[in-house]
Amino acid sequence: MNVAVKQQGIEVLKWAERETRGWKLMIGGEWVESAAGRRCTTVNPSLDIPLADVPDGDAQDIERAVAAGRRAFPAWSALHVDERAKILRRFADAIRALAPSFGMLDALDSGNPYTAMVEDAKKGAGAIDFFCGLGMEIKGETIPTPGGGLDYTRPQPYGVVGRILPFNHPISFAAGKIAAPLVAGNTVVLKPAEQTPLSALLLGRLAQEHLPPGVLNIVTGDGPNCGAALVRHPHVRRIAFTGGVETGRAIMREAGIKSVSLELGGKNPLIVFPDVDLDKAAAAAVAGMNFTVSQGQSCGSNSRVFVHRDIHDRFMQAVLQRVAQIRLGLADREDTKMGPVITREHYNRVLSYIDSGKAQGARLRAGGKHPADPELERGYFIEPTVFDEVRHGMKIEQEEIFGPVMSVLAWDDPEAMLREVNDVEYGLCANIWTNDISTALRLADGIEAGYIWINGHGGKRFKGAPFGGFKNSGIGREHSLEELLSYTQIKNINVSY
Ligand code: NAD
Repeated sequence: MNVAVKQQGIEVLKWAERETRGWKLMIGGEWVESAAGRRCTTVNPSLDIPLADVPDGDAQDIERAVAAGRRAFPAWSALHVDERAKILRRFADAIRALAPSFGMLDALDSGNPYTAMVEDAKKGAGAIDFFCGLGMEIKGETIPTPGGGLDYTRPQPYGVVGRILPFNHPISFAAGKIAAPLVAGNTVVLKPAEQTPLSALLLGRLAQEHLPPGVLNIVTGDGPNCGAALVRHPHVRRIAFTGGVETGRAIMREAGIKSVSLELGGKNPLIVFPDVDLDKAAAAAVAGMNFTVSQGQSCGSNSRVFVHRDIHDRFMQAVLQRVAQIRLGLADREDTKMGPVITREHYNRVLSYIDSGKAQGARLRAGGKHPADPELERGYFIEPTVFDEVRHGMKIEQEEIFGPVMSVLAWDDPEAMLREVNDVEYGLCANIWTNDISTALRLADGIEAGYIWINGHGGKRFKGAPFGGFKNSGIGREHSLEELLSYTQIKNINVSY
C-alpha cells in the first residue's frame, strides 16, 4: 500500500475515500456497497458540516459479513497462534505507519484533537502487539482423575465474534478491540459507531492487505438495524460491546444464548484527602476528567470529585486555574487541546445537564456555555465546565453526562462520603488521593468499582491490568489476559487408558 502520511485534513479524507473505493464495506476481503444501497452521512463536529457518506448497513450486510467470517474461520483458527501473531504484528506495524492519517480522520470525524488521535492510533496498534505477546497463554489444564487416564482442557475460539464500538475513541478501539478475538483464533465482524465510521473503514484497507480475506469484516450502520442484527445472528456466538448502559440492556435482551461482554458507562469518583499535595491532586482531577483528548466523553472520566472540606477552597482554586488554561480549537489543528462534542444532539443534551445543575442549586465555577471564539461558532463546542457545591442525588451527580462537566462535592465524614461514592448505578473506576496507605487501602476495599487508582487518574491505563466495571458498568474485563481468554471456550477431553 502506498503509505500516505498526509496531514492536511482534506487530502487525507480524499485519499482515504479512494483507498476504500468510495467508503465501502469490507466483507470477505472485498469492498462492497450495502445490499440495500443506502448510505448515511457522517458530520464534522468542529464545523457542523457533512464530511463523508458511508454505507448504511443492515441485516443483509451482517449476513454476508458473518458468512465471510465463517468461511475464513477454519483456516485462521487452524494456524498456530504464533503464525497468527506474526500476521497481526505486521498489521499493527501498518497501523502505526499510518497513525497521522488515522489521527486526522478521527479528528475530523469525532472532534477529538488531532494530536491525541495520532496517539490513539498508536495505542490501538500497541494493543495488537500486547495480545500477540500473550498468545501462548491460551492453554489448558490437566485434571487428576481416579483410576488413571487423562483429563485435559483446551480453550478453543468461538468462531465469528461480533464487536460493536462507541464513538469516543474510533481507531484506538477499532484496532485494539479486535486484537484479542483474532489472536485467539476467531474471525471478527466489526461494527463501528455510526458517528465515527471512517477510520474503521480505512483499517479495512490494511486488513485487505495484511489479513486473509474474511478474517476481519467491517460493516458500518446504525444500532437498531445493523448492530442489533449482529447481536441476534445465530452464528455469532460471542458478542463484545462497548457503549452505553441502555444499549447494553438491549443487547442482553436480544442476544439469546451466547457469550456477551459489556464495557459500559461510569460516574467515577476522585476522592481527595487533606494530606495530599494539592497541586498534584488538582492536576490529576483535571487530567482524569479528560477535558482534553475527548471533551469528557470517556467512560473513565472522574466526573465526581469528592474533596475534603478543609482543603476545598484551595483545591478548587488549583482546579480552576488549570481548567482556564485548556485551549479549545478546531479538532484538526495540531495545537488544539479540546475539541467539540460528537453531535448537535449530544451538545444539546450536555447543555441541558448544565441547566439542570444550575436549577438544582449547584454553583457554576467555570464554563457552562459555548466558547466566544468566532472560529468555533458553528461546531458543538462546550467550555470545560466545573460545578461546585454539588450535592449527592443531584442529576448531574448521578447520571453519566459523557461531556466536559465536572461536579465537585465537599465532604468531612469519611463513612458518609463512601456511602455517597457508592450510591450510583455505575461502578467502573475510582481514584483515591491520600498519602496515608491504610486510609487508601481501606477505602479501595470499600469502593464498588472495577478499577481503582491510588494517587493516579483514569488517563493512565496499564497494559495487562484488567479493566471493566462493577454494577451497571458492565460484565467482563479487558486489556488483560482475562480479555484474551474470554474469546475462547473450554473443551474438556477425557481419555481412559
Ligand atoms: P451507544 O450505546 O449509543 O452506541 C454504541 C454502539 O452500539 C454503536 O455502534 C451503536 O450503533 C450500537 N448500538 C446501538 N443500539 C444497538 C442495539 N440495539 N444493538 C446493537 N448495537 C447497538 O454508545 P455511544 O454513545 O457510542 O458511547 C458512549 C457510551 O459508551 C458511554 O456510556 C460510555 O461510558 C461508554 N463507553 C464505555 C467504555 C468502557 O470501556 N467501559 C469505553 C468507551 C465508552
